[in-house]
Amino acid sequence: MSGWKRRFGSREAPWWESGVNFICVPDCGRCCDEPGGIVYLSREDAERIAKHLKVSLKQWLSENCRTSFDGRFVLESKPEDGRCIYLTGEKTCSIYEVKPAQCSAFPFWRENLVSGRAWEKTKELCPGIDHVDAIEIHGDSIKLNLEADRIAEKGFRFI
Ligand code: SF4
Ligand code: SF4
Repeated sequence: MSGWKRRFGSREAPWWESGVNFICVPDCGRCCDEPGGIVYLSREDAERIAKHLKVSLKQWLSENCRTSFDGRFVLESKPEDGRCIYLTGEKTCSIYEVKPAQCSAFPFWRENLVSGRAWEKTKELCPGIDHVDAIEIHGDSIKLNLEADRIAEKGFRFI
């Protein structure tokens, strides 16, 4: 069994392997607009964002991140509403060009793809799924997103 199928706990090809319909709807931002949302960071994410903001990795982590219960770095939230510190008033991302891999990979997260039912549930949050302008996203692209999300969720703890 491939590592891939093992992670999904199945010998069969995953239900989404033949593709799903999706487009990220401009000016939507709903997936960022969740109080209490957690964005895990890979080391590459953190280095890329710190470089973009022209601060040291250490400074960026101490001023813009916190740690999860088990010590992984996650993006900080705004104290007033629990939303991501990089979400603007217009519901856009102020670090869009360098945003974390988990953000780029959404909605192709494991928990959303684990079953057709989970995907249908994700549709309630993400209007890009089966949107009238959606395009077919092939299974290979979905796998890349899932892998990026997996690595980011593993996170990192020390600098
Ligand atoms: S909720 Fe879906 S359509 Fe909206 S910004 Fe997020 S990924 Fe794009
Ligand atoms: S970093 Fe950007 S894309 Fe990611 S949750 Fe925050 S506002 Fe959204």
